[in-house]
Amino acid sequence: MSDQIEQFDVVVIGAGPAGAVSSSLLNKKGHRILVLEKQHFPRFSIGESLLPQCMTYLEQAGMLEAVQASTFQHKNGAAFSRGEEYEYFDFREKFSAGWGTTFQVQRDSFDKILADEAQKQGVVLRYGHSVIACDSVNGERQLSVQTDTGERYQVQAKFVLDASGFGRVLPKLLNLEQASSLTPRQSIFTHIQDNIDEPDYDRNKILITVHPQHHEVWYWLIPFSNGRASLGVVAPTELLSKIQGSPLEQLQTLVSQGGKLAHILAKAKYDSQVRALGSYSCDVTRLYGENYALLGNAGEFLDPIFSSGVTIAMTSASLAAKAVHKQLSGEQPDWEREYSEPLKTGVKTFKEFVEGWYDQRFQNVVFSKKKSASITRMISSILAGYAWDIENPYVKNPARLSTLAELCQND
Ligand SMILES: Cc1cc2nc3c(=O)[nH]c(=O)nc-3n(C[C@H](O)[C@H](O)[C@H](O)COP(=O)(O)OP(=O)(O)OC[C@H]3O[C@@H](n4cnc5c(N)ncnc54)[C@H](O)[C@@H]3O)c2cc1C
Repeated sequence: MSDQIEQFDVVVIGAGPAGAVSSSLLNKKGHRILVLEKQHFPRFSIGESLLPQCMTYLEQAGMLEAVQASTFQHKNGAAFSRGEEYEYFDFREKFSAGWGTTFQVQRDSFDKILADEAQKQGVVLRYGHSVIACDSVNGERQLSVQTDTGERYQVQAKFVLDASGFGRVLPKLLNLEQASSLTPRQSIFTHIQDNIDEPDYDRNKILITVHPQHHEVWYWLIPFSNGRASLGVVAPTELLSKIQGSPLEQLQTLVSQGGKLAHILAKAKYDSQVRALGSYSCDVTRLYGENYALLGNAGEFLDPIFSSGVTIAMTSASLAAKAVHKQLSGEQPDWEREYSEPLKTGVKTFKEFVEGWYDQRFQNVVFSKKKSASITRMISSILAGYAWDIENPYVKNPARLSTLAELCQND
């Protein structure tokens, strides 16, 4: 690297879904973009079940064809199982307009495809470059970068987008961290050779199973197109700590207690690393500030239950790209009204449903036989990621979930 400080219009920290989509959208508007990514792709990442709403952003970013050309598992809905109960939501039968199908993706390949597409479009992307400091200099942002070979350099940008996920670079450097109001939970997960031979098992849907005795414990099974699947369990930290053994043994113990899930996975081969992640829900005091904005998990992360993470990350990328373009074009955007508030519309919807899942209001709705077709379509829409469509009464006023849960409980 030369001693002269390089200049970019925008530096994006992190090349996950939020970083790839935001950099592509801003590059399309003619801005000079640098993405700095700490790791080398392909790399493992969790968050494999997409929602149809994502497809809109992949289309906007010119990445959809590349994703469709790969062999990812088709996805058209979400299935829920609890004891003998089984219900599913077909995303094609939903209230909001837009895509009704999407994919279940191995994130190592998916994130690499998105990052490659951004590079092909002209985005400059450096792997193995980690952002370690961020200062305000002459009305711009100056970032200190460390490469994985130990070199250090600085780079200057008119604007910085933090898409560093759980790296949470700017929240840490600028003191923006805030505890989530959601209860801390823990997750254990892995990839398996699923060997599922149940004739009724639907590979086109994520399967969410509720633990027969502990309603706060649930499992995901996300099948891929190659006979493998992502399997994970979420449980209160305290409950997990009471289960003996390694993470693999803990996962297998819980799966053996999972009723139908144990049956579906009877022939599964556990052949990959088992990972654990705890207390992942996080928040920030603000989503934007002087020449910076926080995207995706670098802002707020709720919970994995509705697979909303990548959708929220891409929505934040799209909203922020519009506001940054406006700012770089000489107009001052109203970041509160044009970024923070609209992003929070969907986050608020998902949050009400997350809370409703764990206090059982939403579980009661899911498993109720009394839902009308129109209510089912509204719920399907939210589960498909259309949590920003305020025409949907459950988006306009997410608290309506409580009334619906009461009606469903009085079945
Ligand atoms: C248990 C669990 C299950 C989940 N399941 C789902 C699911 O099924 N569907 C779904 O949509 N979401 C799911 N999520 C959420 C999903 O993982 C995230 O919301 C999503 O990956 C966020 O995307 P992002 O672009 O914000 O960040 P990421 O995808 O995390 O990308 C951030 C990137 O920033 C890089 N980075 C970090 N620090 C630095 C630094 N200092 N300098 C440069 N680069 C840096 C990282 O290396 C990384 O590549 C799940 C989350 C958890 C915890």
